[in-house]
Amino acid sequence: MDPIKIKFWGVRGSIPTPGPRTLRYGGNTSCVEITFPGIPRFIVDAGSGIRELGKELLASPNPEKGHIFLSHFHWDHIQGLPFFKPAFKPGNHFIIYGSDEPNVDLTKIISMQMDPIYFPVAIQDMGAKVEFQSIQEGTIDIDGVEVQSRYMNHPGYTFGFRFSHGGKSVVYISDNEPFRQEYTQSEVQPKTVTLEDRFESFVDNKEEALIEFIAGADLLIHDTQYFPEEYEQRVTWGHSPYTYTVDIAVKGQVKQLILFHHDPDHDDATVDKMVDLSRERLRKHNYAIPCNPAQEGAVIEI
Ligand SMILES: [Zn+2]
Repeated sequence: MDPIKIKFWGVRGSIPTPGPRTLRYGGNTSCVEITFPGIPRFIVDAGSGIRELGKELLASPNPEKGHIFLSHFHWDHIQGLPFFKPAFKPGNHFIIYGSDEPNVDLTKIISMQMDPIYFPVAIQDMGAKVEFQSIQEGTIDIDGVEVQSRYMNHPGYTFGFRFSHGGKSVVYISDNEPFRQEYTQSEVQPKTVTLEDRFESFVDNKEEALIEFIAGADLLIHDTQYFPEEYEQRVTWGHSPYTYTVDIAVKGQVKQLILFHHDPDHDDATVDKMVDLSRERLRKHNYAIPCNPAQEGAVIEI
């Protein structure tokens, strides 16, 4: 069977960081394209990286269809959407998946982003057929791809996704924080998501549920925003030190790890240092898997 192709269009957390300091790994915010053989493309998150992906799609002479999954609605995950030109081209068809927030559904959340106060073109004037599908924790099937969604430990309602097809799986967790205090000396406790009833199963099981969610994945793309000393100052911000990311990759016995959501203050050399330390920690665990930083433009096949 043809491989699943994963392409990184944006790898940065929080805010785009153009300039010479980030040339190698890239400055665009979160956007990853996953192509399963023979199926309309999947796009995960619509950070500024989706703009470049859009330019590639526009070059296609055929109508395009795509499934766009939004992990959550912080700026670095949606700011590219109004600049995604294929959504303005009649004949194209995109379905946007994401969580409702309390008292605001997905359609309203994205429509508000394109309110005339913020952007000159309204979502209903986009031209392509754009549909919205609210999702909750659970599993859905799209064109034979099994998509599992789980809420992560990040302020607000933030999904991690597991995409499985043909016996292979890719897990995307862009923003997530440890559930336990062992990763910090800080007085501040990591705050486990305290949401309503529908999340209770996850809140009860906490990290065990996360390990089960990523277990055996062929590729884990996970938040690795901080060094442990940075995390000390940022407990409850919803991001992970590399130590945690490596440890859960080992516990989940994943087959490949990509360090994702680079801190906007980390230049290329700093990301290199993070990669070295992550590989060293994997060696200490006696767990030999490929471990690389997400790099804009890079393609992985599994
Ligand atoms: Zn983010």
